[in-house]
Amino acid sequence: MANAVNYVWNYCNETSLYAIRYNNDWLSGFDLQKLTKGAGKELGINSTTIQEVCSEYALRRKKARKRKLRWRGRKSLGWIPFKSTGISFKDGMVHYAGHELKLFQPERLPAKGGYGSGEFCEDSRGRWYLCISVEYEVKAPEVYASVGIDLGLRSTATLSNGQKVSNGRYYRMMERKLVKAQQGKKKRQAKGIHAKIKNKRMDDLHKASTRIVQENKVIVVGNLSAKKLAKTKMAKSIYDAATTMFRTMLKYKASARGRWYVEVDEANTTRTCSGCRAIPASAPKGVKGLSIREWVCCECGAIHDRDINAALNILRIECDTLASEVR
Ligand SMILES: [Zn+2]
Repeated sequence: MANAVNYVWNYCNETSLYAIRYNNDWLSGFDLQKLTKGAGKELGINSTTIQEVCSEYALRRKKARKRKLRWRGRKSLGWIPFKSTGISFKDGMVHYAGHELKLFQPERLPAKGGYGSGEFCEDSRGRWYLCISVEYEVKAPEVYASVGIDLGLRSTATLSNGQKVSNGRYYRMMERKLVKAQQGKKKRQAKGIHAKIKNKRMDDLHKASTRIVQENKVIVVGNLSAKKLAKTKMAKSIYDAATTMFRTMLKYKASARGRWYVEVDEANTTRTCSGCRAIPASAPKGVKGLSIREWVCCECGAIHDRDINAALNILRIECDTLASEVR
């Protein structure tokens, strides 16, 4: 079925390119759907799958601003999208295009309807997953606290109340194992460790973001500038990906619970003293300052943890904005 999806994708790629080349016609997802109509039976996949592939192709081509995209082949990870009408559930099994597939955790699905479109997808270890959006009610207590969050490199995030969301020792330990596996040319094992690290990280981010939105009414996040990242040698994509992911999680979880999520420009938040609001000469500066974890304000004598101080400033920026709007 994944091969069939690739076939449809490649057909879209080729047809769309021809249309552009010879007619200057940029086919939309709808156009492609018309061209592929009825192919489902032949290919053994659901018709909604073909529709989804077509619209996804058009969307990605538009986003990439290219005349064509990469072909999907043997090395592409399997992907079979569908609309909610393309599948059904019964007795812990999912029914799709005449196939009956057993689910690992069927209890996580809504008992009666309430699900949207989704996909079957394969990970790098060759495991298959069912990803589907489901409707569920979020229970959130009434709270009045507010929190500022400094998204950093060393620990994923520091909160203005002193809590830290760290990506600490576990990963370093796993990374050592990973190096060992790679040196021993144990491909399968290395893939497994990679997946484990990723899963653990995602799990940590989910737990932390849920806790933060459950406990706070207002969530203020500093806007980590790309400049700041580029200055350090730690501009590894993984840190970038983790912070972006964390931001996204906070955002949608906040909106589901009626919380207020806001991003503020974090310029100078590291250097400003959260006690007296001055930018003292003793504050950490530039690239060298990145290694300074703790500093003393020479204006008021306050001792600061670098990240907590930044988080406090981030929260204050939003409070000041709100106060000025009220006035
Ligand atoms: Zn001060």
